[in-house]
Amino acid sequence: MSLLQSPIEYLKGVGPQKGELLRKQLEMHTCADLLYYFPFRYIDRSQVHRIADINEHTQFIQLKGSITGFKTLGERRSKRLVATFIDGSGMIDLIWFQGVEWMQKNLKANVPYLLFGKPQIFNGKFNIHHPEMEMLLGEVSTEGKGLQPVYSTTETLRKRYLDTKGILKLTRTLCDQLKPSDVPEFIPSRILQEHKLQGRFDALANIHFPKNEHLLAQAQQRLKFEELFLLQLKLHKQKAIRLGNSRGYLFPELGKYFHDFYQHHLPFKLTGAQERVLKEIRRDTLSGKQMNRLLQGDVGSGKTMVALITMLMALDNDFQACLMAPTEILATQHYESIAPLLQPLGIQVALLTGNTKAAARKMILANLAEGAIHICIGTHALLEDKVVFKNLGIAIIDEQHRFGVAQRAKLWAKNVQPPHVLVMTATPIPRTLAMTTYGDLEVSIIDELPPGRKPVKTVHRFESSRTSVFNFMKQQIAEGRQIYVVYPLIEESEEMDLKNLMHGFEAVSRFFPLPDYAVSIVHGKMPPATKDYEMQRFVRGETDIMVATTVIEVGVNVPNASVMVIENSERFGLAQLHQLRGRVGRGADQSYCILMTGEKLSHNSRNRIKVMCETNDGFVIAEEDLRLRGPGEIDGTRQSGDVQLRLADLVQDVAILEAARKAASALIEEDALLEKPEHAALKNFLMSKKEETLWSKIS
Ligand code: ADP
Ligand code: MG
Repeated sequence: MSLLQSPIEYLKGVGPQKGELLRKQLEMHTCADLLYYFPFRYIDRSQVHRIADINEHTQFIQLKGSITGFKTLGERRSKRLVATFIDGSGMIDLIWFQGVEWMQKNLKANVPYLLFGKPQIFNGKFNIHHPEMEMLLGEVSTEGKGLQPVYSTTETLRKRYLDTKGILKLTRTLCDQLKPSDVPEFIPSRILQEHKLQGRFDALANIHFPKNEHLLAQAQQRLKFEELFLLQLKLHKQKAIRLGNSRGYLFPELGKYFHDFYQHHLPFKLTGAQERVLKEIRRDTLSGKQMNRLLQGDVGSGKTMVALITMLMALDNDFQACLMAPTEILATQHYESIAPLLQPLGIQVALLTGNTKAAARKMILANLAEGAIHICIGTHALLEDKVVFKNLGIAIIDEQHRFGVAQRAKLWAKNVQPPHVLVMTATPIPRTLAMTTYGDLEVSIIDELPPGRKPVKTVHRFESSRTSVFNFMKQQIAEGRQIYVVYPLIEESEEMDLKNLMHGFEAVSRFFPLPDYAVSIVHGKMPPATKDYEMQRFVRGETDIMVATTVIEVGVNVPNASVMVIENSERFGLAQLHQLRGRVGRGADQSYCILMTGEKLSHNSRNRIKVMCETNDGFVIAEEDLRLRGPGEIDGTRQSGDVQLRLADLVQDVAILEAARKAASALIEEDALLEKPEHAALKNFLMSKKEETLWSKIS
């Protein structure tokens, strides 16, 4: 058995008991796992500091000085040795609780020492427990000391002497035995050269025991690249398999519908971003491969028009199209905005939802099957098996995060070959996540808003300014505007939240009484019919204020609504806040978002609110969200959360990620089966991993 494959307990210094602990606590099974257990930071041992420099932020520190005297304090178990240490800048106590006698015998006063330890504060004074002491014979020699690794460990491990030092010792033992042949290079040399990457053996040695910052940086670069490259290879391989298996319909004609609409019925000039995305879709539908494209565009960026024109491309080639939305309200809105635009072209558009009456449903189903209906807009109802198309060419899904992968797959089954799929989302996914978690989808981005939009003004108000907020709302209503007031509702605290919502509704109703004002309330616990009724009243402008939970989060378009008040806004995540804010600012008027909070705010809540007040850019917010929460917590990634990175950071390492992605993509394009001799080492390496099936599959 090779060194790296051997079980961790066989390593000198481990044994069965510690082996068991390492397995349980750190999932460290083999020596390879230990080798890939990287330090999370380093202590610079080439620097000597002064006692006077110590402050409450000081971590480990290296000092040079001498002991002026000793005393022992306490009895028996509490017996300890205290040595006074000076360096010309100050004085500090060194304390030993263990090995007192031995230390007393071996330490000498008035000779120079190099000391290394972690200062702690006790009774307002700094001292150092159990420092490492090295007597200096000549000049201070920090040579070869370099950077000392620090490993994360657990309380349980620490008790069994597997603290950072314990792990360091094991790593040292392992690295001393390690030969280049144990860790053969698997990144093809062409890629190593192009990206100037350190070799695998050197990188692994340097990541644990770097001689200097420069070598450490190189090691980190190499190992981050390695990590991201392997991840990207996997994603690209999966994609290659999918594309290899599924041929796609061709839309070669840009014909009557497209040109007629574009030239005579387009209600506005497309933005550059809309045009670019349409070109990308056009390219996909000419490729002969099935399109799986994710269209990201901030709220209000005009995704619907892209969807509409894409559907026309299908129609021009005798295909049908469907557009699926997550709620009845949204589906209806889409229908109401799209159908009238297409009517002059003689295009038949239908709306199919759970509420469609039996007779109408029967007609729609029959006409879809015959091809008399060209475009069907609807909700989940579209997925039912009874919904059969004559020739579905493309399915468009709006607001992706409410639809799962399984539902996408149901759409694929709606024709002989899977139709093209375009998924549209307004929840910006940070670029790095788009390249990792969603790596099997092509991504298009609308990064431009239609001209003339006024950015929403966002302010933070405390509960104490309630009255002035209400007065501001009155002013806006007097100008003819409508207002949302949104309350949080989360499962864990549902009862309390509903109570808050009702209290809020009552307070608003008192301040905005009938008959001068009309207030609606909508929440997820209402019967769907009542909810729709209230929603529609607001959409039609019959009510001034909509008090609601986040059910209104997605997609609703009421251009006359100009104020979004978010209650307890500290309880919302950034992505959600941004979504909510996106409900206003859709008309020509100046819009406002008011973030209400209690007086006490956690550091993170304060940051979120600050970000919201500072920017309207969904992508900036998404990046910030990623930074504040970490990738595992971003909406929709938890389920597919197999992106576990040891070293690379999806926020900081975008450049490496992009390089790795390019390299992986080119490699798969050139040699998807890794048959070329220069890729043999890579194939070997991959076959030894868990994803073996992916690479042994004949595709
Ligand atoms: P979202 O991307 O959030 O779905 P919509 O498609 O609902 O955005 O578009 C928001 C509003 O912007 C709609 O009223 C739409 O008519 C308008 N719009 C879209 N594209 C343009 C454009 N190129 N120029 C002007 N207005 C546009
Ligand atoms: Mg939309």
